[in-house]
Amino acid sequence: MNFKSIAKMDLRRLILALTIASALISLANTLYASYQVQRQQLIDATLQRNHAYATKLAASTEDFFDSVQQQLGYAAQVVAGDFNDRQFLAAETERLFLQTDSFNSIAVINNQAEVLATSPQSLNLVGKKLETQGVMEAINGRKPLISQPYLSVAGNLVIFISHPVVDAHGNYLGAIAGTIYLKHENYLNRLLASHFYEDGSYLYVVDQQRRLIYHPLNERVGTTVEGNAAIEEVIAGITGKKQLLNSQNIEMLAGYAVVPASGWGIVAQRPRKNTLAALDALMLQVLFNSLPVAAISLLFIWWCARLIARPLKQLASGARTMDKPETADEIQRVHSWYYESSELKKAMLLGIGLLQKNINRLRQDAQTDPLTGLGNRRTLDHALQTWQLEKTPFSVMSLDVDHFKKVNDTYGHDVGDRVLQQLAQHMRECARERDVFCRVGGEEFLILLPRTAQNVAQQVAERLRQQIEQADMSPVQNVTISIGIAHWPGSSVDVARVLKLADEMLYQAKRQGRNRVEVHAGAPTPA
Ligand code: GH3
Ligand code: MG
Ligand code: MG
Repeated sequence: MNFKSIAKMDLRRLILALTIASALISLANTLYASYQVQRQQLIDATLQRNHAYATKLAASTEDFFDSVQQQLGYAAQVVAGDFNDRQFLAAETERLFLQTDSFNSIAVINNQAEVLATSPQSLNLVGKKLETQGVMEAINGRKPLISQPYLSVAGNLVIFISHPVVDAHGNYLGAIAGTIYLKHENYLNRLLASHFYEDGSYLYVVDQQRRLIYHPLNERVGTTVEGNAAIEEVIAGITGKKQLLNSQNIEMLAGYAVVPASGWGIVAQRPRKNTLAALDALMLQVLFNSLPVAAISLLFIWWCARLIARPLKQLASGARTMDKPETADEIQRVHSWYYESSELKKAMLLGIGLLQKNINRLRQDAQTDPLTGLGNRRTLDHALQTWQLEKTPFSVMSLDVDHFKKVNDTYGHDVGDRVLQQLAQHMRECARERDVFCRVGGEEFLILLPRTAQNVAQQVAERLRQQIEQADMSPVQNVTISIGIAHWPGSSVDVARVLKLADEMLYQAKRQGRNRVEVHAGAPTPA
């Protein structure tokens, strides 16, 4: 849109465009601002929630380790009482296995790494030496242990939790241990899996070696994750929350916490995209909800714009036709209900008044003889044209003052002028409203009498002649006039010819002694 087309826009459209533009800008601004605020809030809330879950899960896992250590500790005391009775050991092992579902298997080993009892017994390990990573760590360390995950003899990824068995004299006899198969169903798994959410949130657990101990995708358990900011922090013992890019290059909102007993890190996270997807829907909802009010306000603005623009529009249309007489009425009718429009209206009415007055005066001046106030040749032409078109019949009186030169010579030009003015006054007095008087030469006049028969015109002329003859025109004495009369279309159908005939009649009157009226003989007497 260029300047020219803007200039052609009317006020209503301008107001409308301006208001809509400002409404749209402020709506967009509001939406953008609230989008930003909501987005940050959602991100913060998600980070906070994930942090809280991770912390809670870390605490639950810590509790789990505490309680299994207690169970093992109690069982260690029991088996220490009769460490050489294999049947007793088997029974105690079975009891512990059945009582809790914390372990996938339980074993009692002596300080030579020989298996004394197992549950389930189907493991077929009793009597064998079991020199796995967990066992060796347990009997070498002689203290409660939660091992790092490792591959068992049977090929399971396991953690090994053990408690030393010590006799009444403080001699180290061996250990009672439970294993948890990380990829199998067990209490720990269930505990962690209970926090897998539908909304894209999930949780995983890593050990100190960045190895996944728990992950909702079972096949990932046992794999190592490098370059994950949350994992790096959590294995360094830091609990917190973070926005990060995970190993699959997905932006995540992660909260993480440490399980002190095992040094594991628990990470709860949700893809940023999932978190913000809700926001898009929310914003759409906001937009959608604001539509009815927006539509109503638009309608209201449109109505207001019309109301404001209407007086100016009407005044502008009046301004284009200010020379027409009916415009004043049109402008008078404009309902200018506010200050500027009412001032404009007043100014325009004033302007139109002056303009019309000037036009009328100019028109009048153009058609008026300044000395006598009668019409001039323009008036004559106008009347003749009109009547010809209307086919209005008329009589023409051609009038000349007798021996006017003498008046001028005797009394001076000014007195002559006054005589002409007085003569004009008499002419007006003895004629009717619709008759047309014109001064066509120095002291020569034409009088047009519409719808007047020649004989009637003759009577009027005679009356005028007598009136002038008797009038007091002092200091001039005895002013007389001569008149010639013709009729249209009686004398001729040619208007110019009729005027000429009237003139000829005037000269005939002059020739016949002046102070008389002569009528063209060719014209029929009645109109
Ligand atoms: P006639 O009876 O034949 O008409 O004689 P006349 O003296 O009136 O002759 P004419 O009509 O030819 O003379 C016109 C004179 O009218 C000439 C001039 O002195 C005088 N006149 C013309 N215009 C004016 C005017 O505006 N004012 C005055 N005071 N005199 C005028
Ligand atoms: Mg003359
Ligand atoms: Mg004369």
